[in-house]
Amino acid sequence: EEYGRLLSGLDIAKTIQTSLRDQVKKLKLQHSYLTPQLAIVQVGSREDSNVYIRMKLKAAENIGIIATHLCLPSNTNQTELLRALSHLNLNPSVHGIIVQMPLDSVNMIDSTLITDAVIPSKDVDGLNTINQGKLAVGDLVSGFLPCTPNGCVELIKRTGTRIEGSRAVIIGRSKIVGTPTAELLKWHNATVTICHSKTKNLPEVVAGADILVVGVGQPNMVKGDWIKQGAVVIDCGINHFPDTKRLSGYRLVGDVDFEQARKRVSWITPVPGGVGPMTVAMLMKNTVLAALKCNKP
Ligand code: NDP
Repeated sequence: EEYGRLLSGLDIAKTIQTSLRDQVKKLKLQHSYLTPQLAIVQVGSREDSNVYIRMKLKAAENIGIIATHLCLPSNTNQTELLRALSHLNLNPSVHGIIVQMPLDSVNMIDSTLITDAVIPSKDVDGLNTINQGKLAVGDLVSGFLPCTPNGCVELIKRTGTRIEGSRAVIIGRSKIVGTPTAELLKWHNATVTICHSKTKNLPEVVAGADILVVGVGQPNMVKGDWIKQGAVVIDCGINHFPDTKRLSGYRLVGDVDFEQARKRVSWITPVPGGVGPMTVAMLMKNTVLAALKCNKP
């Protein structure tokens, strides 16, 4: 039996990190004292958030980006969080700001208000309304591209697959994954179909996809036999699946039934080691970009 090739986000992210490290070195030489700086803001201490933040801090250190972790207690209210963001917005040595979501606060905090409180020029998550709007209308250069979608498209490009003219199907329409991935592929000239929980005949829609990107959050939801022979499959899902053989009691699986899908695809991302590391790499890329942009007159 023939199997599709493994699209390793881990390997590609490492390559990107190495080139970013060189870029940061040059930046420091060319503009004395300019070191890209990223502020990571966290409210509370969700364990999954702690894991993601650790990965971001580690990547930053590896590249030579200064990353600071502002850890606010879970009783922080909206006003206090807004004040913290305002300080970071005004601090000229901070080039990029991200607020780790979801917020873990005992108070009601409007997360859209918070994301939009980061000034667009420091919004390295690319999630505020201004940057999302730019992406929607095809301005892919003056703002920041959201990290997970940008990572997905980078992965597709590295397979050598021609995006232009292809049929791309996206399952999921969230603000972080599905919607911006669809926009990005649209502006790469794919013909894009967006699916969600109300989509009828999902298997039939999926069968038409040359490129399939899945961001649903349900383990092994997409079945192997739905997938078109030779498709490129990008699985954004990160799900805990019960596994008694593991000490932790679970293992991470994606939204796609990997074992079955692998028999049909040309390329498929593993979980873990696919989209996850690419998301972090794209955040680092945006942070370096933010530092570069602020240094241009
Ligand atoms: P959301 O829960 O915000 O969105 C899920 C989307 O999937 C919704 O649009 C929903 O539709 C759709 N959906 C749910 N069930 C079905 C179904 N049965 N058929 C078709 N569509 C369905 O999740 P996120 O987008 O935030 O995350 C998705 C996954 O990606 C999660 O596993 C998450 O952990 C992972 N993730 C990974 C990242 C990474 O770096 N690799 C980053 C961010 C997320 P509707 O809109 O109708 O409700």
